Amino acid sequence: MRAIVVGSGAGGATAALELARGGVEVVVLEAGGRFMPFTRRIGLAEPVRRMGLLGGEDKVSRFIPAYRTSRSSEKLLLVRSIAVGGCTLVTCGNMVRADDSLREIGLDLKREYEELEGCVGIATAPMDRWRPLTREMFAVAQRRGLGPRATPKAVDMERCASCGLCELGCATGAKWDSRRFLGEAMRMGSTLRSGTGVSRVILEGGRAAGVQLQGGEIIKGDMVVLAAGGIGTAQILRVSGIEPSDTLWADLVLTVGGVTKNARQLEEPPMVWYSQRDGYIISPYLDVLSHMFHRPWRGVGLNDRVGAMVKLAEEANGRVLTDGTVHKPVSERDQQRLAAASDEVRSIMEGAGVQGPFVNGLLHGGHLGGTVPLGKEDVGSMHPSSLPENIWVADLSLMPRSPGLPTVLTAAALALRASRCILKGL
Ligand SMILES: Cc1cc2nc3c(=O)[nH]c(=O)nc-3n(C[C@H](O)[C@H](O)[C@H](O)COP(=O)(O)OP(=O)(O)OC[C@H]3O[C@@H](n4cnc5c(N)ncnc54)[C@H](O)[C@@H]3O)c2cc1C
Repeated sequence: MRAIVVGSGAGGATAALELARGGVEVVVLEAGGRFMPFTRRIGLAEPVRRMGLLGGEDKVSRFIPAYRTSRSSEKLLLVRSIAVGGCTLVTCGNMVRADDSLREIGLDLKREYEELEGCVGIATAPMDRWRPLTREMFAVAQRRGLGPRATPKAVDMERCASCGLCELGCATGAKWDSRRFLGEAMRMGSTLRSGTGVSRVILEGGRAAGVQLQGGEIIKGDMVVLAAGGIGTAQILRVSGIEPSDTLWADLVLTVGGVTKNARQLEEPPMVWYSQRDGYIISPYLDVLSHMFHRPWRGVGLNDRVGAMVKLAEEANGRVLTDGTVHKPVSERDQQRLAAASDEVRSIMEGAGVQGPFVNGLLHGGHLGGTVPLGKEDVGSMHPSSLPENIWVADLSLMPRSPGLPTVLTAAALALRASRCILKGL
């Protein structure tokens, strides 16, 4: 029995490992190449940045070649990583359960969450590693009854250098990413082909017979497990003549930027605490993407820039086209919710003594899901009813709604459950 797993991020690597453990011959096809973290001193780019010579946000791939940014509408930038390890390489390491919309359809992933948390190792950044201003913002949020708590992370705090650059890849290897699962799968006999983008699933008699690569080569298999992320999976399905759902969501991130002389916020892990609000979270966060490429942020130096983010669960209204282009507007309602939430963030920053001018960062989203949403009827089999029998999905595409929360753990938990259902049916 040969399974073709497309993608090696949170979902793909988890599925590959679980299927390999179940005795299946696994071939992982990954569009991206080997990932290299950013290891230079980011401060060296400051003079060029301040002169505006770094260019626009699409130039982020000069720092990290795996990064892909694209505008899904005038207001929204989508971000993802195309590499062996997918988006897990560029996370802040945050690991929380985000399963509200899954429980609504009757899917309980408690067992998978527990198992995965045990595998990746969860810790919080000790408070003495937080910058003083971050502690002060935490205290303000506490006094206002916002229930802030330390963020669970899959980061080995002893190896973490507090460089603040988790999203440019972890230079010390302290942060978990899906290459650890992939490595295990390969030790069990799975094969990985990197730099191998899949263009479509080959259908014969209503079943998948294999996949066609972007270069034209055909790879045969007994089943295809799509784990190319919310955009990649939808794109492959559409090219294959199977309609994905036009319900892509991304979890909108908007960082409010303020100023405090010598705050040096980057000298701590990002998002060390968060407050769960109604449909969004608040968290301290110096948005490196906005710092480097967002013109309105240009005037303030790295040491003095202070940020705190809103991560908002937004309307699932994105459509992925056959060339991977995404159309996704930001609804009027979501714009209003973002405005109200960012006022709240600014008030916390002011309460902690952060000064203005307060300027919003780039509105972006990098938690891409919802394009093959599970329905109530799919929960038992974990097989979306819209797909042929031997095509499975094992990534965040399965999640019906935007959680406004970190999503790695949920992508992996969905993949784990789906893989177990595959094995059960063999
Ligand atoms: C900057 C950033 C920071 C984040 N921080 C956090 C965080 O701290 N905590 C958290 O929980 N979540 C975070 N996330 C979100 C999280 O990383 C993703 O939601 C999660 O990794 C999604 O898993 P996935 O398997 O669905 O997709 P991915 O991890 O994106 O994996 C998809 C894989 O498919 C590959 N692929 C795509 N198209 C093709 C194709 N045609 N053929 C072959 N391969 C293909 C990609 O290269 C990739 O390897 C962050 C995301 C970003 C962008």
